[in-house]
Amino acid sequence: MNIFFDVDYTIMSMDGKIRPHTQEVFSKFISLGHTIFIWSGVGLRHKDIDRLELSEYVSGIFVKPVTEYETGIQRFQVNPRPDFVIDDHPEIVEFFGGYHVSPYYFKNDLDQEILELFESTLKYFETGLSDSRKLFPNPHLNNHEN
Ligand SMILES: [Mg+2]
Repeated sequence: MNIFFDVDYTIMSMDGKIRPHTQEVFSKFISLGHTIFIWSGVGLRHKDIDRLELSEYVSGIFVKPVTEYETGIQRFQVNPRPDFVIDDHPEIVEFFGGYHVSPYYFKNDLDQEILELFESTLKYFETGLSDSRKLFPNPHLNNHEN
């Protein structure tokens, strides 16, 4: 799966700190054969991704459309198409399918959200089912198992 992560308040706090477990979960997704992309509504985030020491896990960085998602991914040449989107804004998650994380505003070493996202997402990828209200199935993917 092509997994797209938002930056601000999804994996990074207001003051630029990385959310706990982000590196670990990026690494785990990759070891399971998934591909990690970064996108952001405020522009290309190469500097932040470098500074947060995530570059080695990331296969591409894009501008994220914040409205008109379908035309937006054409306009911003987002390629490949996102299969699964992780964002603190629910609308884009509902559109593409993905996981709506609670926003990470302030540094908090006890934050478990990225771990919870990983566990729910794995279960969904394996079974096609989810018991998390934060997870939205991809409406554009056919379930070939049925
Ligand atoms: Mg955000």
